Amino acid sequence: MTTPQLRLVCASANPDKVAEIEELLVGIAELEPRPAFMGEVVEDADSLVGNARLKAQAVRAASGQAAVADDTGLEVDALGGAPGIYAARFAGDDATYADNRRKLLADLEGVRSNERTARFRTVVIVAWADGSELVVEGVCEGRIADQEIGDAGFGYDSIFIPVDGGGRSFAEMPAEEKNNISHRGRAFASLAEALRRRS
Ligand code: IMP
Repeated sequence: MTTPQLRLVCASANPDKVAEIEELLVGIAELEPRPAFMGEVVEDADSLVGNARLKAQAVRAASGQAAVADDTGLEVDALGGAPGIYAARFAGDDATYADNRRKLLADLEGVRSNERTARFRTVVIVAWADGSELVVEGVCEGRIADQEIGDAGFGYDSIFIPVDGGGRSFAEMPAEEKNNISHRGRAFASLAEALRRRS
């Protein structure tokens, strides 16, 4: 007899993200969409863990099932760790990805290449049906480029050069290659490993 597969309600409604997570959890867990009646969860915690927890627990409470949520930040050393958890709204509440990239490049103007070190950090939380949690993290070290390079991806991809990417930005890599070394890819690989150990 085969064991029924673990089912997790996914807090993200972003189809690209859901597809990426599904791919990383093949054979380990199946994702279900979050309840349609749920509104946006306000992410007003002061840490990645806090914000991932708000989302995972809200979806668990609404669905009555185990839920998975992730939250990502970008830490730039020359800016004392900014934008950090505010990566999505670095240039203001209604900022576009392009606005955020422009602000980051402007804030780093004159900063030399070896001082432009940065990292993406992703926290993933599974909130089990009883409210207990599994928490994992993935980090991708790199540096901020002097200008935009490449057209793929989203967010800060065209100005982030990961240390394991042979000098290319995330926006110059096919999605599969990025997922292999990215913060989110590493966090979900770590989740997959933790879920495998549990079963
Ligand atoms: P979220 O927590 O996944 O929504 O990420 C917060 C913000 O970080 C996004 O709005 C993007 O600006 C940025 N971000 C997250 N992941 C990536 C990535 O893989 N590449 C580039 N930017 C990212």
